[in-house]
Amino acid sequence: MIKALVLAECAGNQIRPQTYSVVTAMKSRGYLVELLIASDNNIKELAEEAARIDGVHKVITVSAPYLYSWTTKNIVAQILTVLAREDYRVFAISSGFAGKRIAPYLAGKLNGEVVSDVVAFLDNDTLLRPVYSGSLLTVEKIQSKPLCVTIRSGAFAPAAQLSSPTAVIEALDATPIVSRVQYVERHCKNEDGQNRLTRARVVVGFGAGVDKEVLPIIFRLAEKLNAAVGATRAAVEAGLAPAGLLLGQTGKTVTPDLYIAVGISGAIQHVAGIKDSKTIVAINNDQNAPIFDIADYFWVADAHVAVLQLIEAL
Ligand SMILES: Cc1cc2nc3c(=O)[nH]c(=O)nc-3n(C[C@H](O)[C@H](O)[C@H](O)COP(=O)(O)OP(=O)(O)OC[C@H]3O[C@@H](n4cnc5c(N)ncnc54)[C@H](O)[C@@H]3O)c2cc1C
Repeated sequence: MIKALVLAECAGNQIRPQTYSVVTAMKSRGYLVELLIASDNNIKELAEEAARIDGVHKVITVSAPYLYSWTTKNIVAQILTVLAREDYRVFAISSGFAGKRIAPYLAGKLNGEVVSDVVAFLDNDTLLRPVYSGSLLTVEKIQSKPLCVTIRSGAFAPAAQLSSPTAVIEALDATPIVSRVQYVERHCKNEDGQNRLTRARVVVGFGAGVDKEVLPIIFRLAEKLNAAVGATRAAVEAGLAPAGLLLGQTGKTVTPDLYIAVGISGAIQHVAGIKDSKTIVAINNDQNAPIFDIADYFWVADAHVAVLQLIEAL
């Protein structure tokens, strides 16, 4: 059977949901999936979780203090060591922040190719990826070995978590530090809210159609729904939201079960970050707003009035 190596992205002692989706993508092509866990600690808990992911055949762990935060060279050194041991057909990671910098660097080191943001496979060499903010899909046929791919969040359902482990676990020595970049510390404003956005099952997004006075009721609605709050570029530029809440082409991509767009016109750059939400509800006072073209449910109404009515109804 042909093998795929997936790099697990972890937060604390948990594997991030996007890694589960990458496993599904690889499994759907019939690959024998091996999952690489590279971390400074919590390796045991992470490996145990990884061994219970449906479709993972083997878990490979590397642990070293300098793997606390992945600098590109360090993490790629670990991946190259693993790739050199076996005949892997593909290396895959999710298309988030880590994947965007790791996959191209790795492909360069392998003198190979990278295909980013893959949403589907036609066969093992032929992949579909969106371009122009998702308004076009391109089909790319690539013969490169191993092929480096990043998998778009939400394009594949997360693999199931089994009740008992089915994968073997192998611990490898970490490849010695090679990076000249040394991680010092992290400063993040409003880290909780921003991290919640990509995990939340419900997201309330607001745009320039929401006045400053209406903002508190947007947050009240989000609280009622246990939702995260996101914003458009226009709202960020108006100082109504921090840049970390930006959704879209230049911000975060979310794929919640429910996305409620309030006072958002539906510009293509915003839609690129929310269009894979399972259900989209739009509230806008302009019945011709483009957001209504992609919404499953739309409500032509003033944002203030509609959000208050929603809160009351909940
Ligand atoms: C290279 C590039 C990258 C970009 N990246 C992003 C990105 O990542 N994310 C992003 O969001 N944008 C991005 N943009 C900007 C994008 O093109 C739009 O300008 C932006 O998304 C518009 O935000 P908006 O819908 O909040 O504002 P507007 O387009 O101004 O829309 C406001 C909407 O609110 C409605 N409205 C007004 N008053 C009310 C009311 N009282 N009640 C209900 N509705 C009301 C209006 O009818 C209108 O539809 C990018 C642009 C460029 C050029």
